[in-house]
Amino acid sequence: MKSGKLIIFSAPSGSGKTTLVKHVLSKGFNLEFSISATSRNPRGTEENGKDYYFLSPEEFRKKIDEGAFLEWEEVYSNTFYGTLKSEVDRITANGNNVVFDVDVVGGLNIKSFYGERALAVFVQPPSVEELEKRLESRGTDDAETIKKRIDKAEQELSYAGKFDVIIINDNLDEATKETEKILRNFLN
Ligand code: ADP
Ligand code: 5GP
Repeated sequence: MKSGKLIIFSAPSGSGKTTLVKHVLSKGFNLEFSISATSRNPRGTEENGKDYYFLSPEEFRKKIDEGAFLEWEEVYSNTFYGTLKSEVDRITANGNNVVFDVDVVGGLNIKSFYGERALAVFVQPPSVEELEKRLESRGTDDAETIKKRIDKAEQELSYAGKFDVIIINDNLDEATKETEKILRNFLN
């Protein structure tokens, strides 16, 4: 099997991870997105098999029992997310590099499995207040879901120093340029 490189993006929800990941995926670095499984419902324009594999809690548990996950976490209470081993195999068999969008704990776990083959990137928002504004203006989550995400953000921010690089996503244009530069260096 071919062995591509792995780039992990982690951050509190609302930091702009998905925005940055979508940007780099369009830039032709031979990158492919690792589609995670989740037990939450689709939001906005999300599609099954594109943004996530949306599973019921029972289906998710079955995959855990089958040993299908490289890692999985109960990121929020009763909401499960996990990286399928089959995703990494599928993407590397295509000769591509793998991009992950995972929570901070999952991100550091993937980094420790793969070592130098992986780059762990932390996307840092300018402040928790700004994070809340972004989640509100994204308009895809109800107030309770936003509260769950904000309540977790401080703790997630404390993991930043364990990552290989930190990208501060204040000005989006600067953050996208910085992300491209970091990827170019790592992949070359
Ligand atoms: P995440 O994937 O980390 O949850 P998103 O990429 O969905 O975050 O971004 C959250 C919201 O903030 C989206 O509506 C996005 O358009 C917006 N956003 C992303 N980056 C910035 C930025 N630098 N400045 C202002 N808004 C941003
Ligand atoms: P969201 O519901 O906003 O799409 O994602 C919520 C959180 O779950 C984000 O921090 C996201 O990165 C994380 N996440 C998504 N997929 C996975 C995964 O496969 N594993 C882990 N550990 N976290 C994930």
